[in-house]
Amino acid sequence: MTKDLLSLSTNDYIAGIEAVAARFDSATYPQQNLPADDWTLLTRAGVLLPTLPKEFGGRDSHLEMCRVIETVSEWNLPLGMYVTVITGVALRPIALWADDEAKQEVLPHYSGGDPMVAGFASTEPGCGSAMSGMTTTFEEVEGGYRIRGRKHWQAFSLSAHWWLVSAKNDEHGREYGYFIVKRSEGFRTVQPYEPLGLKVIDYGLNEIDAVVPRHRRIRAEGGNLRPMVEMLMASRALMAAMGAGFLRRISREAHAYADRRIIGRGPMSGIRFVRYRLAAIDTSYTVCAALNHYLQTSLDMKGDMIGAFPAVQAIKTVATERMLSAAQHYQQLVGGEGYRSGSPTNISAQAFLDARVYTIFDGTNDLLSQQLTEYCLARTDGRPLSEFLAEWPLTAAAVTEHRLDLGFLDQNLEQEHRVLAGRAIAYAFSIGRVMRWADETDAAPAEARAAIEFLKADIAGVAGEFRLLATGVLGDEDEAPAETSFSRSVPVPASV
Ligand SMILES: Cc1cc2nc3c(=O)[nH]c(=O)nc-3n(C[C@H](O)[C@H](O)[C@H](O)COP(=O)(O)OP(=O)(O)OC[C@H]3O[C@@H](n4cnc5c(N)ncnc54)[C@H](O)[C@@H]3O)c2cc1C
Repeated sequence: MTKDLLSLSTNDYIAGIEAVAARFDSATYPQQNLPADDWTLLTRAGVLLPTLPKEFGGRDSHLEMCRVIETVSEWNLPLGMYVTVITGVALRPIALWADDEAKQEVLPHYSGGDPMVAGFASTEPGCGSAMSGMTTTFEEVEGGYRIRGRKHWQAFSLSAHWWLVSAKNDEHGREYGYFIVKRSEGFRTVQPYEPLGLKVIDYGLNEIDAVVPRHRRIRAEGGNLRPMVEMLMASRALMAAMGAGFLRRISREAHAYADRRIIGRGPMSGIRFVRYRLAAIDTSYTVCAALNHYLQTSLDMKGDMIGAFPAVQAIKTVATERMLSAAQHYQQLVGGEGYRSGSPTNISAQAFLDARVYTIFDGTNDLLSQQLTEYCLARTDGRPLSEFLAEWPLTAAAVTEHRLDLGFLDQNLEQEHRVLAGRAIAYAFSIGRVMRWADETDAAPAEARAAIEFLKADIAGVAGEFRLLATGVLGDEDEAPAETSFSRSVPVPASV
């Protein structure tokens, strides 16, 4: 059935996705777990195909992976996440690093238009941000590996047919492993979770006690968590595509509502502060569109992405922050009707609940920001951080062209400063992406200018937070300095 899709041009193929995605319009689609029949509509339209190599019936395209997510997210953000988890998080590592035998066993199930689901099981009740604390173990047994432990908050806890599971072994020093597990081999959901948003996806607490054949272990370095960081990079980068689709919709909805709603003698959109909120929403869209352009043109989910670590940390944190802040502006603009579930006049209540988790999951933004700073600090070669950023290819053009004053970063950076500094670095990175997007597309220069002004104000905000911290608000000046070693998930410079 999906074979006919393989010969389509990218634009015709995406038009087909668009036509089906429109049926899932978040204004009308029920807030419920996606029924298998509805998932079939999307798999038959080919949403999984760009992730799959051609020899397994796929279209094998980085650009199309991005465009599918953007298109689906414009109609229904949770559905964009649904597709992202299956494609970017679960199937991509299998397509890239599994043994041929394992690929042959798993991937053909996902190319034929059946309602197949796959998930990634990493987080445990006792650890999410610091995954070195995982308790799920693997051990070699006759014919393969036995994996035992508990995982929670997995997308598709109850519905996934195949899993990618992370586990550890401490028999000869710490070793990590990643295993492809069929649900029926011993993956059991013991408690369903009720999320506040993203209702199309089912979540829960899971117990694993499974024996898998040897060929189902993914080829990945075992001594540290670097492979897991890499496996999460595609979904983190795809936040730009989700953000671009979602915020195009939110911008449209917010403008239409503000034009329709009469306050006093005229439309709400005539109030100047309302226009400021609309500008904040519009510039958030611009920022995500620029990050998405960078994702489409400069990154490649079809290969190892670890080299893009700093760019991806910046994309994830800025795109998700923009999604959340724009959703909040939209909900504020809608007033009381924005606090009503299922309101017929707007989608703001659910949009806010859906966007809320984006700054938390897939690596909490605070941790990712800290890691971005540490990535840069490990490469300064003794220079002040601001000097490094003025020369670093990812921020140099923005720093020079907009005379960004990042001198406030040049001090002893405690943990709290590193989180904030990472945000400033990510904003500077984003200014550079907006500049490039404006140069390489037919975007209106005024849109780019406004987005850059908002990002510069964000950097000034971080500088203000540094000043706030300097007043001693944490009240711990006399305490011993906190642990300042770098996170072990941050790639070290090649020369180290
Ligand atoms: C809707 C949803 C879907 C999910 N999907 C999946 C999935 O498919 N598969 C999967 O394996 N997991 C999934 N997760 C788990 C998710 O990735 C984790 O919740 C997330 O990584 C955070 O881990 P945690 O919840 O244990 O929070 P914790 O690690 O306890 O962190 C809590 C908070 O501590 C603070 N914090 C932590 N570290 C730092 C730091 N260095 N600096 C400053 N503050 C810090 C932050 O405020 C952070 O939000 C999902 C979670 C949700 C809610």
